[in-house]
Amino acid sequence: MKILLLIITAFIFSFANDFDYKIKAIKLNENSYYVYGKEEYFSKENGGDIANTAFIITKNSVILIDTGSSVAYAKQLKEQIRKITNKPIKFIFNTHHHPDHFLGNYAFKDAKIFATDYTKEDIKNNGELYISNMVNLIGKAAYTTKVKVPNSLLEEKELILDRYKLKILYLNGHTKSDVVIYDEKTKIVYASDLIFNKRALATPHANLQDWIKALEKLKTIDFKILVAGHGKVSYDKKVIDENIFYLKYLHSTLKNAVNEGLDTFEILEKEHPKELQDYSMFKEEFERSIINLYPKYENQ
Ligand SMILES: [Zn+2]
Repeated sequence: MKILLLIITAFIFSFANDFDYKIKAIKLNENSYYVYGKEEYFSKENGGDIANTAFIITKNSVILIDTGSSVAYAKQLKEQIRKITNKPIKFIFNTHHHPDHFLGNYAFKDAKIFATDYTKEDIKNNGELYISNMVNLIGKAAYTTKVKVPNSLLEEKELILDRYKLKILYLNGHTKSDVVIYDEKTKIVYASDLIFNKRALATPHANLQDWIKALEKLKTIDFKILVAGHGKVSYDKKVIDENIFYLKYLHSTLKNAVNEGLDTFEILEKEHPKELQDYSMFKEEFERSIINLYPKYENQ
C-alpha cells in the first residue's frame, strides 16, 4: 500500500512540475504562424499565457516574434515549432519590454535576440523584478524563468536574416519603444501591443497621444493580415480605427473628468460606449487605465 501511494504521489508530482500550456500554432499562410494568447489577466490557471507570439519559417531558419511570459512557455513553444520544422530558431524579436513578451528568452540561448536600446536596457535593469512579480502572479509556471537580455541591437529599418527581408518600424505609445515588424513578401504585419483586437487596451506605460500617432502610421501599411499583441488576428484596417477610438475615448474621458473635477470613482460610474464594453477585459483594464493615468492628467 505504501509503495502504491509513493508511486501515485510521484506520478502526480511529475505532472505538477510542468505547467501544460497546450500551445497550438495557428497557420496564417505557408510559412507564417501565430500562437493566440488568452484574453485574460495573469493567473495560476493560465500560466501567464496571455500574449500572442508568432513565427516565420524561412529557407534555413525560424524567426520568432516575442517569447511569452515564462521559460516553460517558451520551451513548449519550441516543441510546437519542432513539430512543424527542424530548422533552427536563429532570430528572435522582443517587440517591447513588457514581461509577457520577453520572459521566455532564456529558452533560446543560441539565438540572436533583437530589441531596441530602450527595451534592452529596461530588460537588463528590471528583468529580475519582472520575474519575481511573475512568480507571484502565475506561481510554479514561472519557477524556471531566468533573465536573458537581448543580445542584438535593433536599429535598422530593414533587416535581412538568412536572406529573408523584414521591414522594421520604430514607434511608441504603448510603451516608450514599440517595434512593428512588416513582412512585405507575405503582407503580414506583426503589430505588437500597439494593437489589441477586441480586447481592452493595457496602458501601464502608455502615452495615449503618441499611441494614436503610431496607429495612424500603422494605417499606411499595405497589409493583408495583422497580428495583434493581444486578441485574434485581423484581416482589415478596421481594427486600427477601433483602437484609435478606444484611445481617444479614454483621453477625452480623462480630460473631461479633470475639467469637471470628478474623482476616479465618478469616472468609472459613467456609462461607457457599448462597443467598448463588449471588449474582453473592459471593466478591469479601463479601471486600471483610469487609476494609472488620472494623476498625470490632473497635473497637466
Ligand atoms: Zn505590452
